Order: sequence, then C-alpha cells, then structure tokens
Amino acid sequence: MRIAIIGAGPAGLYFAALMKKHDPSHDIVLYERSPRHATWGFGVVFSDRALEFLRADDEDLYQYLTPHMETWPNLTIVHNDTRIPITGNGFAAIGRLDLLTRLYAYVEKLGIRIEFETEVTTLDQVKDADLVVGANGAFSWIRSENEAKFGTTIDWRPNKFIWYGTSKPFDSLSLTFRDTPAGVFCAHHYRYSPDMSTFLVEVEEATWQRAGFDHLSPEDTLRHCEQVFAQDLDGHPILSNNSYWRQFPAIWNERWSFDNVVLMGDALRTAHFSIGSGTRLAMEDAVALFKAFKEQGNDIPAALALYQEKRLPPMKKIWDAANVSLRWYETMDERMKQDPYEFAYSYMTRTGRVDHAEVRRRDPSLAAAYERLHPEVVGAA
Ligand SMILES: Cc1cc2nc3c(=O)[nH]c(=O)nc-3n(C[C@H](O)[C@H](O)[C@H](O)COP(=O)(O)OP(=O)(O)OC[C@H]3O[C@@H](n4cnc5c(N)ncnc54)[C@H](O)[C@@H]3O)c2cc1C
Repeated sequence: MRIAIIGAGPAGLYFAALMKKHDPSHDIVLYERSPRHATWGFGVVFSDRALEFLRADDEDLYQYLTPHMETWPNLTIVHNDTRIPITGNGFAAIGRLDLLTRLYAYVEKLGIRIEFETEVTTLDQVKDADLVVGANGAFSWIRSENEAKFGTTIDWRPNKFIWYGTSKPFDSLSLTFRDTPAGVFCAHHYRYSPDMSTFLVEVEEATWQRAGFDHLSPEDTLRHCEQVFAQDLDGHPILSNNSYWRQFPAIWNERWSFDNVVLMGDALRTAHFSIGSGTRLAMEDAVALFKAFKEQGNDIPAALALYQEKRLPPMKKIWDAANVSLRWYETMDERMKQDPYEFAYSYMTRTGRVDHAEVRRRDPSLAAAYERLHPEVVGAA
C-alpha cells in the first residue's frame, strides 16, 4: 500500500512504524512541516498505567523509550503553604523533542522516509496514496476543511494556559496552586530530564483579565509568572519556547474517516493535559488503526470502519474523563477556599474514576485526613 501520513508527531510516527514492521512492502512517507530539530513545548508525561498499555502492545518500543524517561512514584499537591505528597501515583516523563527524535530514528531504521520542512496543504498533493492519514495535530486542516464529513465539534474551554519550562528539576509531578490578588494561579510541573522541567501555568479567565495579561508583553508575562511561583522556583528562571496564552479546544469527531482519508491523534480528538494522556491516546490510535489493517488486509474501507468501531469505546472513556478533569480547573478559585486536604482529595477524585476505597489504597494518610473532615465516608467506603 502507498501510505501518506501528514504530520510526524507521536501518532503518525508510531503508525508508520507498526505498518512497516508488519509488512515491509508498504511504501510509507511521513510529511512534517517543521525542521527535524524543532518542536514546541517541553516535556510530556505518562502515567504508569499509560506506560503499561504501551508495554502490553509493544514491549520493544517500551524498552527503547523508557530508559530515557524520568520517573517518580508520587504526586504532590501544593495548596499555598501546605504541601501534600500523595503516594501511589507513578508517572514518567520525557522531553517532547527527545521523544520525537527517538521515534524519528526508530522509523527511519525501518526504511520509512520523513520529509521534513514539507507542509502538505491540499489532498491533491498526496493524491497518489492509497491511504492518507491526517495526523497533523489539534489544528489539522484536513479536519477543519472537512468538518461536515467528519462531524466535528470544537468546544473552546475558558481557562487560559501557557506552556513554559524551567531549569529547576522538581522531584515529583506537582500541582501548585497559589492565591494572588488577581486570583488563583496553578502550575502543572514535572521534571522531564535531569535538569529541566515542564512548567505549565493555568488560570481562570477572570484571573487572566485581572492580572492584565491581555496587555502584558511576553517578557512581562513570564516575569509575572516567575513572581507568583518564586518560592517554588527557588531562583530558577521560567523559560519560554514560543510560549503564549492559549485556550484548550476539546475536539471530537463523529466520523473518523471518509474515502481513503483517516484521522488520528490530536487531529481526531484532544484530551486535556491535566490527565497526561494526549501522547498515550495518539499512540493508542496508531495501534488501533494498525490492528484494523492487520485484520482487514488492504481493504481500506473495511479497515477504517473497524478502526472506529474498536477504538471508540476505550478512547471515549478517557476523553470523557479528560473533559471532567478540565472542568475541575475551571472552578479552582472557588475550590481553593477548601481545607488543603479536602482540596487535594477533590483533585484526586475529580474524574469519578478514583473512589474513596481507591484513595485509601493509594494513600492511606490522605484518606485518613479526609475521613477526619468527613467521618460519614468511613462506613460508606
Ligand atoms: C500545553 C500542552 C501540554 C501537554 N502535555 C502533555 C502531557 O503532559 N502528556 C501527554 O501525553 N500529552 C500532552 N499533551 C498533548 C500531546 O502533546 C499531544 O496529545 C500529542 O502530541 C498528540 O500527538 P499527535 O501526533 O496527534 O499530534 P502532534 O504531536 O501535534 O503532531 C502533529 C504534527 O503534525 C505536523 N503538521 C501539522 N500540520 C502539518 C501539515 N500541514 N503538513 C505537515 N505537517 C504538519 C506538526 O508540525 C506536528 O509535528 C500536551 C499538549 C498541550 C497543548
């Protein structure tokens, strides 16, 4: 089969590798508009569970990637001056560029071409392909130009976030919430290499307005965030990489393909960064699409139908959880009025996938602190 993949992110790269490994006669080309060594953002995080999924599907890739990841067993919630470490929440992280560079090497070794600095802007450019894969991220033109065919909905969420980094290596995945005169600032931060961390700042829309971010320069915005989190940064600078305020688009598509064109990864659907699953979902899409072809051979319509049928239920579960999670952050100013332990507990149980018994299993001391505040849960759990 001639396969044209638009976008060499985790979804496109991994799909290419799986298809080529299975059948080396596939002629696969990846088109990537960015240069080989450029990418946005800093590090991405995977939960232990996300890595176990990868391991179950592809031990080889798991062994190839995980030695380069930073790992830690706990999560820390900081509620102003109260630090609450929460055990039983393992995570691993890797720089996005590091991840992509390793995936480039992995696919190129299999004989797949990546055409860097090649922007595909019309389907006409790839008309010779038997299969066209739209793996070109959340702002995919393949999706936006065919919204009616895909049944696309985009729900722009009101919170503002900005994806920074810092040279401070934090010792666990942390969520730091600080009250300021303008409102609550939240930082999602974690080490992704021995000397670098992701530092993503999120605020409610009203806080963003009150802080005056609508007229602050990029430099003043960065300084403002450094001041808010001065005691967390210990004198380390916040670093920008084309960082700017954004709003999260919760994207969904009712139909995932038309003719020989199919969507994968963020182009297909976005999952809020607070559940650390965007990259995992993108890679799982790749596995699902690959398995559909493995089962249906080169019957493209049958494979594309099977892809959606099999992938939809597990993916929808995580997508729903991500959408509940992002709403929790949209009410963080109100929630910060809670007792710090109540706040941490509400964070842990925010998606409904972790109940009291599970909190108790992961971190008995957090469960005990909550039980002191709410004795009624003791009998119920
Ligand atoms: C602020 C933020 C924080 C995040 N944090 C995490 C996290 O902690 N953990 C996690 O797992 N995920 C995280 N994610 C999500 C994660 O980055 C994405 O879910 C993941 O990268 C999706 O992979 P993808 O391959 O679908 O798309 P992308 O990684 O977006 O890749 C798409 C590629 O397509 C290329 N492209 C676009 N248009 C064209 C074109 N016309 N022609 C050629 N190439 C094109 C782009 O240059 C890009 O390289 C985060 C996302 C954001 C925005």
